[in-house]
Amino acid sequence: MLIKKEAKKKSVKVTLAKTKSVSKPVLPVKPAVALNLVRGMKDIIPPQGDLWLRMTQTAIDIATAYDFHYFETPVVEATSLFVRSLGRGTDVIDKEMYAFEDRDGGKICLRPEMTASVARSYIMQGMQTLSQPVKLWNIGPLFRYDRPQAGRYREFHQFDCETIGESAPVIDAELIAVAYNYLRDLGLTVTVRINSLGTPTDRANYLVELTGFLRGKRGYLCDDCKKRLLKNPLRVLDCKVDGCSAVVAEAPQIVDWLSETSKTFFMSVLEYLDELAIPYVLTPTLVRGLDYYTHTVFELFEDKHNETAQSALGGGGRYDLLIEQLGGQPTPASGFAIGMERVMHAVQALPNLEPQKISSKPIIFFAHLGEQARRRVLKTIEELRQNGIVVRHNLAKSSLKAQLELANKYNATHTLILGQKEVQDGTVLVRNMESGIQEIVDQNKIRQTIVKILAS
Ligand code: AMP
Repeated sequence: MLIKKEAKKKSVKVTLAKTKSVSKPVLPVKPAVALNLVRGMKDIIPPQGDLWLRMTQTAIDIATAYDFHYFETPVVEATSLFVRSLGRGTDVIDKEMYAFEDRDGGKICLRPEMTASVARSYIMQGMQTLSQPVKLWNIGPLFRYDRPQAGRYREFHQFDCETIGESAPVIDAELIAVAYNYLRDLGLTVTVRINSLGTPTDRANYLVELTGFLRGKRGYLCDDCKKRLLKNPLRVLDCKVDGCSAVVAEAPQIVDWLSETSKTFFMSVLEYLDELAIPYVLTPTLVRGLDYYTHTVFELFEDKHNETAQSALGGGGRYDLLIEQLGGQPTPASGFAIGMERVMHAVQALPNLEPQKISSKPIIFFAHLGEQARRRVLKTIEELRQNGIVVRHNLAKSSLKAQLELANKYNATHTLILGQKEVQDGTVLVRNMESGIQEIVDQNKIRQTIVKILAS
């Protein structure tokens, strides 16, 4: 009846239009503003969104297991915080800051990294009065005005862990273990590249030697490195231009300029890594480019990748002087940051590993056939959820075939099927998707049955 009325209305409209001889067809409404994504930004939509959530859960699990505690700091900070801590002459400060003036003329920026914010918070919130070390973790957005390309965005996210208030080398090894095991738990095979920058005195002595050497080879360096030679000669070491790499291969290495204490510290970190069977490569050219690092610096690379600048999944190091530099008490500290987007791309590229399969837990799908069954399933999934059990489902689909296809797509290990017959009998079919074996279970025992499956 309704449909007929609608049709009638439409035909009246058409007649009216004709009598008024409106010749132009009615065009679809154009959006008032063109829709754009700001350069270097991205949306994360399903199925990546599901993988993102799993990566977040894996971070929560590992951070909690190693006794790290969650923190949040604002995305907006004073620009001076990063200029003071990262240092001029670094790409992040000189080229990549999203820095601007707010309405009061205050110089603010979108944070380009997390460590300086954590150090600021540690000082301002009086965290030195807490039991030391303070172990903090977070996942949050960072902003760098970088040239966007594969794996490089202007807004990106990091899983960040910081241990503040302890100078023992075992802390560096523990942080490397957390970063390494996080990536391993997500199915990635990685190797740690590691180096030591020693103390500021070690570094200053080394810089005299390095600068002298590089000046002699100036003619072979790229234009950027010629500038780096004046501003921040250490950065020449991680230049990937062929001519520069050839020069760097012959350059003096910082390990030869470390004091005995710094060498012993570095050896200790390496011994812990040996103990933990974490694969590492000594990398004398690894300097991480920021002023605040002392002693251990490291980066994590997926094994299949060779030495390309952008492929580090994460990195970190010790920053014993940063908190004092920012006005706090002398406080040793160490940390790492892993790039979530790069990890997501790496996990997605894993052979035979779909996002849903990253979970080692059984996945349960709940299918229905008929309206009564649909209502029963709707009620049951909420009862299960209240008991901490999550089941996949699609209540909008009516065909059982379509639902079973979906269960396969989700890599469900088991599918519960509730049809009209089962509704009458008070039962449910439980199908093992691998073996195809089906079992009839009493509806009152659905929860018990799922708990048993999940525990298997
Ligand atoms: P960094 O603080 O530069 O050492 O970066 C640590 C990690 O964050 C890197 O290893 C990357 O995984 C990630 N990362 C850094 N910059 C970007 C970017 N522009 N886009 C995406 N990920 C990034």
